[in-house]
Amino acid sequence: MQAGIQPSKTNSDSRHEGKVPIHDSLSRHRFSDQLKRVSTDIFADLRTESLMKYALVIPDGVADEPQPSLGGKTPLQAANIPFMDEVAQAGFVGEANHVPISLPSGSDVGTMSLFGYDPLEYHTGRAPIEAAAQGIELGELDWAIRCNLVTVEDGRMASFTAEQIPNDLAKTLVELLQRDQCGSEHWKFYTGVSYRNLLVYRARNIPAPFGPDTQTTPPHDITDQLIEPNLPQGPGSELLRELMERSKPLFAACAPNQERAATGTHTATQCWLWGQGRRPAFKSFLERFGKRGAVITAVDLLRGLGKLLGWQVIEVPGATGYLDTDYAAKGRAAIEALRNDVTDFIVVHVEATDEASHEGNAAAKVQALEEIDRHIVGPLHAYLKSQGEYRLLVCPDHPTFLRTKTHSHGFVPFAVCGTGITADSATTYDEVAAATSSLRLDRGCELMPLLFREA
Ligand SMILES: [Zn+2]
Repeated sequence: MQAGIQPSKTNSDSRHEGKVPIHDSLSRHRFSDQLKRVSTDIFADLRTESLMKYALVIPDGVADEPQPSLGGKTPLQAANIPFMDEVAQAGFVGEANHVPISLPSGSDVGTMSLFGYDPLEYHTGRAPIEAAAQGIELGELDWAIRCNLVTVEDGRMASFTAEQIPNDLAKTLVELLQRDQCGSEHWKFYTGVSYRNLLVYRARNIPAPFGPDTQTTPPHDITDQLIEPNLPQGPGSELLRELMERSKPLFAACAPNQERAATGTHTATQCWLWGQGRRPAFKSFLERFGKRGAVITAVDLLRGLGKLLGWQVIEVPGATGYLDTDYAAKGRAAIEALRNDVTDFIVVHVEATDEASHEGNAAAKVQALEEIDRHIVGPLHAYLKSQGEYRLLVCPDHPTFLRTKTHSHGFVPFAVCGTGITADSATTYDEVAAATSSLRLDRGCELMPLLFREA
């Protein structure tokens, strides 16, 4: 044990004990001094080159608080997850914070940090990542902007999805927006899925009018609130406001849109522009870490990040991004990817745990976790052990609280094991085990370099 902290856990039943000493402020204070030594101790330098296989499993938003409905346990404590516990027992459990407090909590920020790229340095906005997912290339001076189709009633955001506007109507409205911009060579709208569309400012060698001080508001953050105080502010904001204003009469005059409104549905009354940014100035993952990566996910943000990092994006039939996802298919695809000679590092992302939190459904969150454990972590770990040297990391991107049904800031637990990793006394993978750990990364982006630490 590195930090002189007595862990509460002595056997695998301890996740059910519910009595855990939280380390005192003195031990917290010692962490920064110890971090360097602890990291060195735990992640022994590796002498192998390129033979090593690496895997990261991301149960999105799994970190949570104790739940009354789970007998005062967190979902990780309540779930039966023997394979994640095995990772904890064979290796160790720590804490990492992937979402800097100055940024909104979400998978775009959290996974960027998890992949080893400091969001404070590289995160420019959500739209450029979504653009990458759709295969939309951005020039160095171009900006991508998220274009929601929304319903505003009496000056308030009644629906940030225009009540899940159907794809065909969304396409019609986005085409109207594009036609209206015939005079401008800078604006290009791209149809996405339902209310989620994109706008690109093609700079054409002239610097765009936007900058880091341009402020916009995610429409899902202001449901039922007045839109006026949440309109774009700062450099270039007048252009964004003008586009939003011009969309109102266009949508009002669109016959199919009005027919939908007549049925009492919240149909689109305007577009809402937000999430703007330039293409992140990433070094590719291969250049940065010397590893060839691949990602399995059903979520566009993760696909986009993967593409920006130069990873292979593996599509798995049956991966839905929801509770009904085909977990076993994802597990098999991960093993298949590692079997070939072009993947050193596989990332398996599962959204279901996050979705269960958004629904406030503790039982579903526990069940999703158990499926991830049984069908992904279990088979993947067995394969890794059988093939030679490896390292396996389990870590979510951010907490998503069942209580608030939304993303949160704060530390998440991680468990890591494999070649050259010294086991500590952890026996379970959960928030409480992590809080008693000697390894606590305030900058979560430092975790990935530790995973790949080599001689
Ligand atoms: Zn979420």
